[in-house]
Amino acid sequence: MECASAYLGAGEFWRKIPAWNGVSANQFNDHLWQERNSVINLKTLAPLVSKLVSQEFLEDVQQGINAGQMAVRLTPYIISLIDWGRPETDPIRKQFLPLASEIETDHPLLVMDPMSEQVDAAAPGLTHRYRDRVLFLATDTCPVYCKYCTRSYAVGTNTKAVSKISFNPRSPRWERSFEYIETHPAIEDVVISGGDCYRLKPEQITLIGERLLQIPHIRRIRFATKGLAVLPMKILTDVAWLKALSRINELGRERYKTVAVHTHFNHKNEITSITEAALNRLFELGIVVRNQSVILSGVNNSAEAIIDLNYRLSYLNVRPYYQFMCDMVQGTENLRTSLQEAVEIEKLVRGTTSGYNTPLFVVDLAGGGGKRDIHSYEIYDRDIGLSIFKAPNVKKDSYFFYCDPLRSIEPYFRNMWLDSRKRQYMMSSLLREFKGVASNQRLHYSVLGNLMRNGI
Ligand SMILES: *Cc1c(COP(=O)(O)O)cnc(C)c1O
Ligand code: SF4
Repeated sequence: MECASAYLGAGEFWRKIPAWNGVSANQFNDHLWQERNSVINLKTLAPLVSKLVSQEFLEDVQQGINAGQMAVRLTPYIISLIDWGRPETDPIRKQFLPLASEIETDHPLLVMDPMSEQVDAAAPGLTHRYRDRVLFLATDTCPVYCKYCTRSYAVGTNTKAVSKISFNPRSPRWERSFEYIETHPAIEDVVISGGDCYRLKPEQITLIGERLLQIPHIRRIRFATKGLAVLPMKILTDVAWLKALSRINELGRERYKTVAVHTHFNHKNEITSITEAALNRLFELGIVVRNQSVILSGVNNSAEAIIDLNYRLSYLNVRPYYQFMCDMVQGTENLRTSLQEAVEIEKLVRGTTSGYNTPLFVVDLAGGGGKRDIHSYEIYDRDIGLSIFKAPNVKKDSYFFYCDPLRSIEPYFRNMWLDSRKRQYMMSSLLREFKGVASNQRLHYSVLGNLMRNGI
C-alpha cells in the first residue's frame, strides 16, 4: 500500500469547476465564501456544472430533489470533489445529491424516525436511551444534507415529501435539557449533536460547553459535526468558532473531563490537503477527533474503501470509532447494504491496521434498541434478509429487527415482503424460531455433540 500522505487531494482542485476557475485559495478557504456559494437547488447547481454534465442528468437531479425526504445543500468544497465526468457513480455525489433514476422501492419496514428518538425523548430534543449518556439535539440544520440522514424527521428545511419537526437552536428549549441532565446524576456523557455543531454560533458553543462542564456528574462531552468532511476550512478561517471550541476543550482539561469532536467521513475522496491543515490545527490544540461512518451502497461498501478511509483518517490522527449500518429510514433503500455484506467487509477490514484505528461495525437498532455489534444478532435468516437483535442494557425484554435491502434478496422472498400478509408470516416465523431456541444452544451449537447424542 502507498504511503497515506500520497493520497491527500492537493492543489487547487476547485478550479475544474468552470465558474470557480478564477477563485484563489484564499477565497476558497474562506468559510463565508463557502456558505455564500453553497448550492441548495438545481437553479444554483446548473450554472456551475451544466458544461460538464448532460441535460438528462440535470433533469434526473430535479426529479430526485422533488421526490426526496431531505433538503439539498452542498458546499463548493463538496461540489469540487465530485467527479462531474462520471457523476452517476461518484461516491460523494451519491451521498448528497439525489437522482430520481436511483430511487428504489423502500423495504416495508423503513420508517421516518427509526431510532424512535421522538418516542424516547426525555425533553424536546433530548434522548436518554443509555443509562450514563444522553443525546442532545442542539440544532436542526447542517452545512450539507445527507440523503440517508437518520434524523430525516427533523433535520433541514421541509421538502415536498416531508414537513419537519423543528429543533431551533434556542436556549429556553436547551434549558429544559440542562435541567433534566442536572437532575439525573447517572448521566456522565453528553453527545451534542443535531443537525450539526458547525451551525452553532461561538457563543452557543461556549454556553452549552460551560453549562454542561459545570455539572459535577458530567465527565465527558462531544460535539458532533460533519463539518470536517464537508467544510474543513471553517477550522482555519472561522477564528471565533475555533476559539470557542478550544476554550471548552481547555476548560474540560482543567476539570479533568474529556471534550471531543465526533465527525463523519465516509470516503477517502472527502479528505484533502485542506482537511489535513484543519485536522493538524485541531491536533495542535489538543482536540481529540473521532469518526463515525456509515456503510453506503455505491459509496463505500467494499473492504478497500473502508480500509483506505481508515488509513487516511489514522494518518491524520482521527480515530475511526463506529462504522454504522445505514439506518432503516424511508427513502434510503438504494443506499442500504445487507448485514451479511457488512459482516464480510468487517472480516476483511479487521487486522489491516491497529485495533484502535479499526471502527466497530454497528447497527443502531430501529425501535430504539441502541447500537449493537453487527455480529451479535440472535438469529439471521439470510434468505428473507431479516435478523433479530436483543439489547439487554437498553430495553431488556424487547427484540429488534434489522432488514436487508430488497435488492439483496431473491425475487421469491422479495415479493413476499411486498405482500403484507406474507410479511407478517415471515416475521412471526423468525420470531417463533428465535423464541423457541434457548440462546445458549444458539450460540454454542455443537455438531459433534449432536451427532453423539443422536447415537452416531
Ligand atoms: C449514539 C448515541 C449515544 C452515544 O453512544 P456511544 O456508544 O457512547 O457513542 C447516546 N445516546 C443516543 C440516543 C445515541 O443514539
Ligand atoms: S450531517 Fe448528520 S445530521 Fe446533518 S444531514 Fe448529514 S447525517 Fe443528518
